[in-house]
Amino acid sequence: MSRGVIWFRNDLRLADNPALMAACAAHDELLPVFIIDPLQHGDSPLGCDRSGPFRRRFLAEGIQSLDRALRAKGTALQVHAGRPADVLERIANLWAADAVHAQRLFAWEEQQQERSVAERLSLRLHAPPTLLLPGDLPFSLEKLPQVFTAFRHKVEARWTVRDAVPEPAAIRSPREWRGKPLDEPWIGAAREDDRAVMRFDGSREAGLLRVKHYLWDTHALSRYKETRNGLLGADYSSKLSPWLATGGVSAREVYREVKRYEVQNGANESTYWLVFELLWRDFFQFTAAKHGADLFKRWGVARKPVSTAWDARRFMVWCEGRTGQPFIDANMRELAATGWMSNRGRQNVASYIVHDLGLDWRMGAWWFERMLIDYDPCSNWGNWQYLAGVGNDPREGRRFDPVRQAGLYDADGAFTRLWNE
Ligand code: FAD
Repeated sequence: MSRGVIWFRNDLRLADNPALMAACAAHDELLPVFIIDPLQHGDSPLGCDRSGPFRRRFLAEGIQSLDRALRAKGTALQVHAGRPADVLERIANLWAADAVHAQRLFAWEEQQQERSVAERLSLRLHAPPTLLLPGDLPFSLEKLPQVFTAFRHKVEARWTVRDAVPEPAAIRSPREWRGKPLDEPWIGAAREDDRAVMRFDGSREAGLLRVKHYLWDTHALSRYKETRNGLLGADYSSKLSPWLATGGVSAREVYREVKRYEVQNGANESTYWLVFELLWRDFFQFTAAKHGADLFKRWGVARKPVSTAWDARRFMVWCEGRTGQPFIDANMRELAATGWMSNRGRQNVASYIVHDLGLDWRMGAWWFERMLIDYDPCSNWGNWQYLAGVGNDPREGRRFDPVRQAGLYDADGAFTRLWNE
């Protein structure tokens, strides 16, 4: 009789889950676990929790949805709070498990978690949450190109996306294994705002419905390239990033659905562009793997000296949308009220804090980590570095003029009015 722990991380699903599939193949009985690491949700250098109410609610819904799916297969999820190595060691000892199976993650803290677990237990790591697998890339991660365009050209020349892995028919656990839900007080309360672009429900079911809506029900995918810089409404972009961050839906599942859509409705620049954006996501994941802790340091992966200020008063003005710059304020208020901001908005507010307010870009990155429901360490810190000029951007000082940007993307002022009135 062999038992294994399946440690769910950013893969809150049963389908297309290589770690789960491997654990099922290797063991007679599985112990499904999710861990809330207090280091990753507790105090940030800003003096508040690293995860705020919107992000927690979305994650909680994803965890509950995973538990429902596991129960339908004959087992249940235990949610524990603590450092992963401690929690997993306790469970492995208590239940006499032979090994722990988990998704491999690339961000620095997640890599530290893996190292600590591997020091104490037999840890088997499986495919990361990327569209392309590291072993299928035409270069090693150490040789990852510094610039996205070079990366894209190389991977597009040797394109391999694996098929999605099917979900297990049944999962067996020890008869005494009981589920353990997420602590309600931890989730907190996120207030609804009727100006939000949409209600994001973190369950996998809602993620799949969003894919269906964006591709098949509305065909919004076929207009993506023209609408993707929008600011208002649910369909200017896919809005899939929150589920991609928790793994409620995988990048491969989205890719396969786009390909199926192209077969039935024809490919165009827009269908290509969505996959192009998924490549940006991969690029930042691999960048995190290559550069480790530098992704989170002031000097960035470019190791460039930058002098910046850490000024709490100016920072609060930015967070609360009180800078006096209407376009910036509108975006920041949307983030504070809903946990969401468009890509166009993110670029502008990031440029503003760096180039107009002269603040340390990491203050902004920490704030986004707390607020964004789609927070992902690689995408967040990678994009912040890019905007701050210490990342993978071949161009120097990417400054956005918010007045010009508002004129281009909010010409009638509807977005700015919505959040400033
Ligand atoms: P779509 O436009 O529909 O794109 C489809 C998918 O492609 C997205 O869901 C996302 O997974 C990926 N993608 C698109 N643009 C990017 C990009 N620039 N970098 C990486 N992946 C991308 N994205 C996150 O997922 N998490 C973050 O924490 C995050 N922080 C950001 C911080 C800053 C300062 C900036 C400028 C961008 C950040 N992004 C982040 C990237 C991007 O803004 C979001 O992925 C995108 O707005 C999500 O909306 P969507 O799902 O509708 O994207």
